Amino acid sequence: MAKPYLSIVIPVYNEADNLENLYTRLINVLDNYEKSYEIILVNDGSRDNSEAILNELHKRRPDQIRVIHFNGNFGQHMAITAGFERARGEIIVTLDADLQNPPEEIPNLVKAIEAGHDYVGSIRKKRQDSWFRRYASRLNNSIRSRITGIVMTDQGCMLRAYKRHIIEAVVSSKESSIYIPALAYSYASNPTEIEVEHSSRAAGESKYNLYKLLRLNFDLMTGFSLVPLQMFTLFGIIVSMLSTLFVVYLFIRRLLIGPEAEGMFTLFAIVYFLFGVTLMGLGIVGEYIGRIYKDVRQRPFFIVRDTLEKIND
Ligand code: UDP
Ligand code: MG
Repeated sequence: MAKPYLSIVIPVYNEADNLENLYTRLINVLDNYEKSYEIILVNDGSRDNSEAILNELHKRRPDQIRVIHFNGNFGQHMAITAGFERARGEIIVTLDADLQNPPEEIPNLVKAIEAGHDYVGSIRKKRQDSWFRRYASRLNNSIRSRITGIVMTDQGCMLRAYKRHIIEAVVSSKESSIYIPALAYSYASNPTEIEVEHSSRAAGESKYNLYKLLRLNFDLMTGFSLVPLQMFTLFGIIVSMLSTLFVVYLFIRRLLIGPEAEGMFTLFAIVYFLFGVTLMGLGIVGEYIGRIYKDVRQRPFFIVRDTLEKIND
């Protein structure tokens, strides 16, 4: 198959109950759209029946459907990266496999790229997630935009379109903890956002628990900014200055009034507070060092076990 105009990249992790539906809706939209396309489905080490279904989908449309099987679970963003490495389209679109992002929106994203934008983000019109997820995301969004200076109204929505050169820049970034929408945004010169529909998960359950979400957000903060470290330094400076004043005050008080032994528990409170803050600071430093450690080891970010594709160019 010759180089397609569109590449659709979809990470798949235990989505057996969604794949058939996803296939039908995608094919339906793209066949009517009259642009050449390829769909790259990256199986991120699924342990359900996804693998067999993906193989079957490839057989149905060997010219359009490419399947990459990972050797284990390396995470959504690594799965997308693997898809990007292999994507051949002029325009690359990402979406989730669980049908929360309607494939019917793809033409709208492409239209915005064709209008001259190199990055099209999306804002979920009526987000269909639990209130906890919605509020946690809102908080994350505002902290992240303040710390990293990256303007994304809705960072969590993966339905996005990119021009080829942006994806090439993302692929050439050799970082192990990446957050694709933000990284791509930082390479874009003319980004925009459009509103898209959002549905609740068609089948199965979210692959992100609170812990995984937290990890992802740390990736975002540490990957794009040194502000957490700098805030910490600033806090340290302020505390030392206040402590110096306090020491001077105690010294003068001691000379004028004499020794004091009261207020022990207040002292405990203050010490515990500062101890907590110190541990947090160590943690922040650790987050950065851990990522540096991961990157200096230079282990592969993911391992591809098998690919099913028919390419001849
Ligand atoms: N996903 C993946 N690897 C993972 C977790 C998720 O490839 O380790 C895929 C998943 O199959 C889906 C997309 O990433 O296509 C988004 O995951 P999910 O719907 O669970 O996230 P949520 O919508 O709850 O944020
Ligand atoms: Mg989802």
